[in-house]
Amino acid sequence: MQIRLADKAGFCAGVRRAFEIAEDAVDKPEKWYTLGSLVHNRQVVEYFKEKGIMPVESIEDIAEEGSGVILRSHGVPPEVVKQARKKGLIIKDATCPLVKRIHDLVSMLENEGYDIVIFGDINHPEVQAILGWCKYKARVVADTDEAKKIEGSKKIGFLSQTTKDEFEFLKAAEALLSKAYEVRIFNTICSATRQRQEAAVRLSQQVDLMLVIGDKNSSNTNTLFEECKNTGVKTYLIQNAAEIKDEWLKGVAVVGVTAGASTPDWIIKEVVDKMAAYKENNKQEQGVEESFARLEAEIADFIPPERGDIIKGVVVEVRDNEVMVDVGGKSEGVVPLRELTVKEVNSAREVVKVGDTIEVLVLRWDDDGTILLSKKKVDAIKALDHLEEAYRKGSLIEGTVIDVVKGGLLVDAGVVAFVPASHVEEGYVKNLDEYKGKTFTFKVIEFNRSKRRGSQVVLSRKEVMAQERERRKQEFWNSIAEGQIKKGIVKRILDYGAFVDLDGFEGLLHVSELDYKRIEHPADVLKEGDEIEVKVIAVDSEKGRVSLSRKALLKNPWEIVVEKYKPGDIIEGTVVRMAPFGVFIEVEPGVDGLCHISQMANHRVEKPEHVVKIGEKVRVKILGIDNEEKRISLSIKEALSDIDRREVEEYLAKQGGNNE
Ligand code: SF4
Repeated sequence: MQIRLADKAGFCAGVRRAFEIAEDAVDKPEKWYTLGSLVHNRQVVEYFKEKGIMPVESIEDIAEEGSGVILRSHGVPPEVVKQARKKGLIIKDATCPLVKRIHDLVSMLENEGYDIVIFGDINHPEVQAILGWCKYKARVVADTDEAKKIEGSKKIGFLSQTTKDEFEFLKAAEALLSKAYEVRIFNTICSATRQRQEAAVRLSQQVDLMLVIGDKNSSNTNTLFEECKNTGVKTYLIQNAAEIKDEWLKGVAVVGVTAGASTPDWIIKEVVDKMAAYKENNKQEQGVEESFARLEAEIADFIPPERGDIIKGVVVEVRDNEVMVDVGGKSEGVVPLRELTVKEVNSAREVVKVGDTIEVLVLRWDDDGTILLSKKKVDAIKALDHLEEAYRKGSLIEGTVIDVVKGGLLVDAGVVAFVPASHVEEGYVKNLDEYKGKTFTFKVIEFNRSKRRGSQVVLSRKEVMAQERERRKQEFWNSIAEGQIKKGIVKRILDYGAFVDLDGFEGLLHVSELDYKRIEHPADVLKEGDEIEVKVIAVDSEKGRVSLSRKALLKNPWEIVVEKYKPGDIIEGTVVRMAPFGVFIEVEPGVDGLCHISQMANHRVEKPEHVVKIGEKVRVKILGIDNEEKRISLSIKEALSDIDRREVEEYLAKQGGNNE
């Protein structure tokens, strides 16, 4: 026979805490009592009776002044506390923190004028205590049918006894939604109960027999029993090992064991031990023994964390408004949504998921009993460490703009930091709203860690940009060199040239370097925004000057002339300049040839302008090309004679042809 123990079974954190509070009272010199059963388990009550801690039904039953009274985990109404104080009793409050939270909620709802409805069992001590905390002004409904019967009102506050079924609670909540203009619903069902139920149901589906251990008066034990039975598996509710009957185990291959939240470990162990007597499969039983021993060892080794401790825990449940964390030793803590993250989120599910290991700070443990945890504070400590280091080293950090406030931006940098408006950009910023939701790199320019007044972190984006500009400048001057060919954008056009942007730095392209041909104004060949290729022809890093040439990348027109023409050719050119000794005629863009005054006409020419004018197109004969001196000599006169002669020859050739 195989024995399997549910993942979650036995003492919950609240019961364990009550147990420890009572254990602590055992050695005290005073006489101690518990008001009612400390927890809903007879064996636990008996255990403490043997140690001298007696249960009493009311404060009046305690005769000796100066005695101590332990308020049970289910809580008590406030008047009982007053009565105990009045009688001069020492009080130890073992009310489960989750139950205490319900007391606070009903008290708040009562103050704010809500009609309070409690989902629970009216006779249960927990519900009786809750009623006391709202001056008995609440109505108690046991199920959805009763919730449907609630009469309409203006505003209703609805919450549950901790050990109720969540599905039933939500059904009843739905029934209330149409009963008032405003319905506030607080899901106060304890996850320990639900986890035990879920684990028990899971196990029930894998076994032939389920044993549920717990007190028959315990609400959560009874719910566990019902849930297991509902899966269809044979289920027995037992209070201790002695109640197990041999015939139940006959022919059973796998037995599942679970226990209510008020069932102590030693009773679970007794049950497992008893069943071990039936062992048919030693190996598997040994496994259960080992796992039980591990469980016990885990509990024994667990040192409860103290306020201010940073501990690791595993997320076991995520609700919209809180996260339950297993912090070891079968203890669970709660991280409320407000303590989860510095970011604005609607649900805890946006931040963590079940199974995540997270670091948390213990905010409260025993003061009011809960293990209240904060992930946000651990994150903030780490973020402040990181920011402090960045401040000391001058290193950069990343942050996302979360809000715009008077005078600057609020940035999520792990903690909320401030960026003054003057540090957002290098220049003036008109509309800060444009930055919201965007992530940038910042430099920490002020850092003050203060616990009392809150830490102050001031960031600058402007300094990052200035640093980046300086870095790029250095990079530019280190990499730029004469002879490089670069692409650039024409930024500005002036009379004497154009400034061209090369990776953020401007170089001058002088008008004379635009082309081989004569350019009157740079705007004749360029416009702002053009992307052009240029050659770096001079670099002066000290003065921060770079000279560029576009001409250097164009084909030399002299080469075109040499390739294209030879002496004797008659070509067309344009008169571009006059001199007393002749005219200059452009034969190719950028190449002018000289037609000496003696070569301008067959008669004697006084002045060149008597023959041609600037801009006139003329036919010229190439007399010579001096490749070395890059000179070309031309003749208008010879061009005209050659043309005349050619025409006569052609005429004569035609005449000859006709005579034949
Ligand atoms: S079951 Fe939940 S509410 Fe009840 S005592 Fe345990 S931890 Fe507290």
